[in-house]
Amino acid sequence: MEVDKMDENDWKYHGEGNKSLVVSHVQLSRVLRLLKYPAEDSENPPQTAEQAFRQIQNIVDFSSNVMSSLLGEKFIHSGEVVKLPLEFVRQLSIKVQHQRPVWRCDKVMDIYSGCALCLPNLTSPGLHQQTHTPPLCIEIKPKCGFLPSPKHVSKDIKTKVCRFCMHQHYKVANGKWKRRSLYCPLDLFSGNRQRMHFAIRHLIEEPQNNFKIFKGGQCIYSSKEGSDDSLDLNSLLHHLRPYFLYGNNRINGHMTSKALLSDFIQVLVNALLSGGGEGGGGGGVTDRRGEGRSFCEASLYNKERIRHGSQGLPSDSVLFRILQTQMLDSLDIEGLYPLYCRVEQHLQDFPKERTRLQIDGPYNEAFLEKLQKCSTEDDGSVEFAAAKVHQYRVAMTAKDCSIMVALVPSGEEEDDDEGLSAQRRLFRPPAFSCSVSILDLDPKPFDSIPRQLRLDQKIVLCYLRTGSLPK
Ligand code: ATP
Ligand code: ZN
Ligand code: MG
Ligand code: MG
Repeated sequence: MEVDKMDENDWKYHGEGNKSLVVSHVQLSRVLRLLKYPAEDSENPPQTAEQAFRQIQNIVDFSSNVMSSLLGEKFIHSGEVVKLPLEFVRQLSIKVQHQRPVWRCDKVMDIYSGCALCLPNLTSPGLHQQTHTPPLCIEIKPKCGFLPSPKHVSKDIKTKVCRFCMHQHYKVANGKWKRRSLYCPLDLFSGNRQRMHFAIRHLIEEPQNNFKIFKGGQCIYSSKEGSDDSLDLNSLLHHLRPYFLYGNNRINGHMTSKALLSDFIQVLVNALLSGGGEGGGGGGVTDRRGEGRSFCEASLYNKERIRHGSQGLPSDSVLFRILQTQMLDSLDIEGLYPLYCRVEQHLQDFPKERTRLQIDGPYNEAFLEKLQKCSTEDDGSVEFAAAKVHQYRVAMTAKDCSIMVALVPSGEEEDDDEGLSAQRRLFRPPAFSCSVSILDLDPKPFDSIPRQLRLDQKIVLCYLRTGSLPK
């Protein structure tokens, strides 16, 4: 990819989140991730080109030096900052505008800095092998998978109902979504296959911004406002069917929709519990934190069934690594806030300390060391407080990241062989080679912490008002 010969016709709209817009190359397995900012500021950008470059470089550093060592290098692709011609970026923004979902258009794409993050396209691994069945990629934004410790929270409900489930009530009450999702992250992170299956079924039913499916690099299933959900599910089943021709639960050679969906979910559960491709082999299974912090009372999963076999997560799985990193938030926002205030006060008194404490980076090995070597006892120092704030911010990133599972049908060469008996084809389970990645690993700003506390209070109050009402 030559940066000085960029042509907007080689790129197309791929997707977006709250902070960035992503375009993908039509031939190469590459994406560009561009910053967004509020539409009100579209005339005067909130930062200079140099600041935007710094921000993206910080994202790369945070991902490669901090998150990668906590989550496991094999899952992470940090990418690189690129400087693009402004004319290319302007044309690109015009080109993609009409494809953007309306509900995301409160923000505009940054067309002033010319900076972007260039990453491998995780939805089209090996795009060059056009002759083969296109890969299926499933993106899951799992959110927080544990309940806070009772020591630090003021409201008892926070130790019983998980943040995601409470937040659902708040989002519906505020009109963000029409329906509540019945997905509960604690089920997904349980390591219990049945509970994980249950969780993924609810992600499919109500994907919101937590679930997407791509086929050959194109998004074929996601939350679309105002569309007919049952039609979407039918079209999903239509897409999936060719990948599961060899499933077990067939009636007269035809696989029922229920069986098809169940096979698909099972493949996904396997991928989430596997070591993520390279190095394979079953890692140790972890003893589940036995303090009863792994079940959410809002989950509809039948509690009676949990007694039987709560396996815990394999320690080399992507879910285990994400959960461990999320748990660096050991004090909850309520326990952390006083430490944030200690740092904030110190910075007001000694502004130059911002650099030494690495409040806004650089995100290097020293930063990682600060948060890993943080003592368990509060000695009253600003260093302790800053380290806890660093830990909290890293945990926030792990609560907001996405998992991308890429499934490539395997053993296709064999299938080309006409001599293969129909019998053998019929009873072979679907075989995929899978690879797992983690994306969206931006550092969360120091100043966002007071906002986090206010949001937490609003969500809890809303749940206490509406949550226990019958559905
Ligand atoms: P959020 O609102 O979740 O914080 P964000 O604004 O930080 O999102 P991303 O999640 O990084 O943005 O990217 C938006 C979407 O673009 C993702 O959900 C994913 O579907 C797609 N995407 C991002 N990076 C890649 C990649 N490397 N390969 C393929 N698709 C990607
Ligand atoms: Zn829950
Ligand atoms: Mg995201
Ligand atoms: Mg993000």
